[in-house]
Amino acid sequence: MARQLNLILVGPPGAGKGTQAERLQADFGLAYISTGEMLRANVKAQTELGIAAKAHMDAGGLVPDELILAMTAARLAEDDTRDGFILDGFPRNLAQAQALEHQLQEEGRRITAALLIDVPDAEIVKRIAGRRVCIKKGHNYHVHYDPPKQVDVCDQDGSRLIQRDDDRPEVVLNRLLVYHEQTAPLVSFYDERGLLRRVDGMRAPGEVHDHIRALIATLLLEDSL
Ligand code: AMP
Repeated sequence: MARQLNLILVGPPGAGKGTQAERLQADFGLAYISTGEMLRANVKAQTELGIAAKAHMDAGGLVPDELILAMTAARLAEDDTRDGFILDGFPRNLAQAQALEHQLQEEGRRITAALLIDVPDAEIVKRIAGRRVCIKKGHNYHVHYDPPKQVDVCDQDGSRLIQRDDDRPEVVLNRLLVYHEQTAPLVSFYDERGLLRRVDGMRAPGEVHDHIRALIATLLLEDSL
């Protein structure tokens, strides 16, 4: 059996993880797992998980690990992850990274690479102010950098585009703080394991995509040798 392509996208909020994940999903037929999207769907449906998660999300903090780990363990057990997956927004701290490593080890799977999409804080604040997502599926746009064909309408499913509650300026600064304190340590975690690949997230989305595809081609080649 060919080995699975199991990717993790690491980077601050607004680095372009969702945009790249959508493209990679189409390129490689991988299961796309965004914990932020899963949580937002739960909030919308007012599930027990959604109700428990909402206050943490609105404040820009992290949802407690036990809730996240139960959700991701179930998702990673689904059939569509057979050929591989892209994780966007998970793991988000060291405890989650260790739990993921443990789960995959038990199942005889492993991470192929952790892709760090690097973008400085000042740029993040600018990007998030213009970010819009569709109400149906959370497809990502930016009013200047990646506008939809028709103002405030999703190109992919025709639904309305809105600003996420946690993209409001006062919440963004807290999300950045949480990123630096809790998520940035994952960079050395994956570097120590030889899994980290750095991508310059200041480039245009198409160029970032090309760079990531080239990295993946190299990984697949190394794997087949
Ligand atoms: P995102 O769409 O990835 O920016 O996630 C939006 C919000 O969902 C975050 O600010 C957190 O409150 C919550 N969230 C998403 N993924 C995780 C995770 N792995 N651990 C804890 N909280 C998360």
